[in-house]
Amino acid sequence: MRYCARCGSEYQDSVVDCTDCPNHPPLVSAEEMRERGLPLPHELDQSRFVRAGIADDPVTAQIFADVLDENRIPLIVRPGRSGVVDELTTGNLMPWWELLVPDTSQARAAALLEEVKVQGLATADEAGRAAEEEELEDERSRQAAVDSAPPAY
Ligand SMILES: [Zn+2]
Repeated sequence: MRYCARCGSEYQDSVVDCTDCPNHPPLVSAEEMRERGLPLPHELDQSRFVRAGIADDPVTAQIFADVLDENRIPLIVRPGRSGVVDELTTGNLMPWWELLVPDTSQARAAALLEEVKVQGLATADEAGRAAEEEELEDERSRQAAVDSAPPAY
């Protein structure tokens, strides 16, 4: 059997990469899963691996995964399946990813993800401000060009 180190899915030996995950990561052996501290699907005990957060898009999922990797927290990113209930209650058909970590790391992982979210928002704010300033700069240089233009008469 081969396993996806991202979402923890199990595949036949003939399968090379995970069809469920964004970017289709290559599958690994059971030994490698063990080395990384990741549970095999039949060992994925809900009481031991708990949700640390949710990502709305693959980019966010990847950022979260990188942060937890850096902090050596084993992580399973399970692709969310919009079930009938989701569809009816939220009308949300967009994909999402559930980030599962060992319950012993849950508090730390959740805090890290929260930190990333706050930083991400701050960065977006800065980008917005920078764009505004640039516009202002454009406005000024246009004005300067008009001022320095020779009189029209
Ligand atoms: Zn996968």
